[in-house]
Amino acid sequence: MAFYSQALPSYTIGDTAYEDIPRVCEPYGTTAVVIGGKRAMAAARDYLLDALKDSKIKILDFVWYGGEASFENGDALIENPAVQQADMIFSMGGGKCVDCVKYVCYKLNKPLFALPTIAGTCAPVSSVAVMYYPNGVMKETYQFSHTPPKHVFINTRVIAEAPDVYLWTGMGDTMAKHFETTLAARGRDLAHGDAFGVAAGIQCYKPLVKYGAKALEDCKNNNPSFEVEQICLCNLVTTGMVSNFIDFSLNSCIAHSLFYGFTVLPQIEKNHLHGEVVSYGVLVQLIYDGQYDKLDELYPFYKSVKLPTKLADIEVKFEELGPVIDKTLEVRDIKNAPYEVTAQKLLDSIAELEEYNKTH
Ligand SMILES: [Zn+2]
Repeated sequence: MAFYSQALPSYTIGDTAYEDIPRVCEPYGTTAVVIGGKRAMAAARDYLLDALKDSKIKILDFVWYGGEASFENGDALIENPAVQQADMIFSMGGGKCVDCVKYVCYKLNKPLFALPTIAGTCAPVSSVAVMYYPNGVMKETYQFSHTPPKHVFINTRVIAEAPDVYLWTGMGDTMAKHFETTLAARGRDLAHGDAFGVAAGIQCYKPLVKYGAKALEDCKNNNPSFEVEQICLCNLVTTGMVSNFIDFSLNSCIAHSLFYGFTVLPQIEKNHLHGEVVSYGVLVQLIYDGQYDKLDELYPFYKSVKLPTKLADIEVKFEELGPVIDKTLEVRDIKNAPYEVTAQKLLDSIAELEEYNKTH
């Protein structure tokens, strides 16, 4: 490789963030199409139109992305006349929506601007797209053209007005970023991008402990407060930047492997969210790795925001763990650990966490 380039999105955050769209987007043209989720567009459409009323940018249409980040939906969008005609594309919604639109923009070579309506994942800031089959089964992870959205407009009012469960599960997933990347990086010789991403990862958990509980409370009350803003930055921007900088092999470790393990249980698929289960895995990973000081630091925070700290919180019985552990050890990410992870020690760590709950 003769050169190396790193594309990063810029961003605007605040309860009137869309008012910055004309300044940022007018250099890209005069027409835009919004591709979004149904609920997302219902929630944010008026804010967008209001912010653009005196601008040169005309919205050609609001188009539903199809409900799944699939190539099939992407290909249908590529055929849409408004999408073909628009100078730029705005994605309005959550992670699956923006991932689907990344594919569309890549194929059409059009600039993508992300307008996340929830702060559940880092997808609006990262260049990675997780694509699914039309039936919702995960297909593959793609690095589309190595370019994330050009700019991300984070309207904290829209996010505060969305159900707080997204902010909550987003915090659970964000929490893992620091602990998994540092474990995966241990003992490795990291060059600039990886070292930078891993170092930045500490900002994926410190602000959560500091602002998380207040942010969640404010989100319940539809209040786009300073704390909501800090958590949006954490869940969307910091995690997205870390993803953009680091190699896949550093991205996740024991906590995410455990999540995939737990998905063999129907109650997990049915009743529990990705970030929720991942956050439980973080506690198991901390015990597995002997990081008891971090466990003591996180435990009160988990309790304050009701993230799961024990099996009962995710409706799992210890006796059900056999197939969960088998699956966990098959996940590719488990190989990112700096040592061999064993079934026995995983079970011991889970049992130890159960005991910890009884004494704290
Ligand atoms: Zn995750």
